[in-house]
Amino acid sequence: MFKHIKDMEYTVHVDRPDPRFANLLLEQFGGPHGELKAAMQYFTQAVGCNNPQIRDMLQDIAAEELSHFEMVGECIAMLLGPTDKVPRDFPAIHLALLTGGPSLTNSMGAPWNASYIETTGDLYADLCSNSAGELRAKLIYERLLQQTDDAGVKDMVRFLLSREESHNFSFMQAIETLKGTGVDANFRDSEFSKKYMNLSTGLGDTRGPWNQGNGIQYEENPNEKFGGPAQYGKDRSADSKGEVGPGYQDNTRNNPQYTQPKPITANVPGQEKQMH
Ligand code: MN
Ligand code: MN
Repeated sequence: MFKHIKDMEYTVHVDRPDPRFANLLLEQFGGPHGELKAAMQYFTQAVGCNNPQIRDMLQDIAAEELSHFEMVGECIAMLLGPTDKVPRDFPAIHLALLTGGPSLTNSMGAPWNASYIETTGDLYADLCSNSAGELRAKLIYERLLQQTDDAGVKDMVRFLLSREESHNFSFMQAIETLKGTGVDANFRDSEFSKKYMNLSTGLGDTRGPWNQGNGIQYEENPNEKFGGPAQYGKDRSADSKGEVGPGYQDNTRNNPQYTQPKPITANVPGQEKQMH
């Protein structure tokens, strides 16, 4: 059940109208890293979530994102000011023409889109998406801070930014509790899931924890070693869990090393194939 409480999560103060910043702030109203996206993503995940603890967290954060959506919308409306005061040469004049307040678009006028929502039903994957989403939201607020001198607006943006940091922290901690579950449970192939393929040539090959230690094998020249027909599936044991079974034979058509194109024979005059 939802209930609207008239108090805002944060009381928005705006020094004076600033349609330019109103337009920029739309990014966090109807943009891909914005507040509605966050609210809808966590809500959608919550209703499909069978883990009661994680579900509770998703509902709490989804509800707060809707409060952020409300704050950002209020702020945009206040910054736009009266529609007849918006300068005629203002690039985003459609805001005054169409809505007289926030429109459900990003700062470029592209409509909000449900495909912004990342939901798989796998809690490990979903919480990783959520954590990254919070970082992207924070980043845009950091950049928005550079675009205004309005003290009230800056304060609201800092508040929002801090809340996204807090959400990111919660998601990261929750991910820790889910280690080894869902999509993180086990790696299908002990050999290939711990290989680093060095696929760039030339100077500057770099080694780091992403390609050494932790049982990772560094393949210096993977093309030479593995490039070939269905190497991945060829020598799999019968009890393998991989998708590509040992009997997989359609293994040559996509590799010119094994399927050399036949030379084209030139037509000799007088010997053309008879066509009827
Ligand atoms: Mn938010
Ligand atoms: Mn958030």
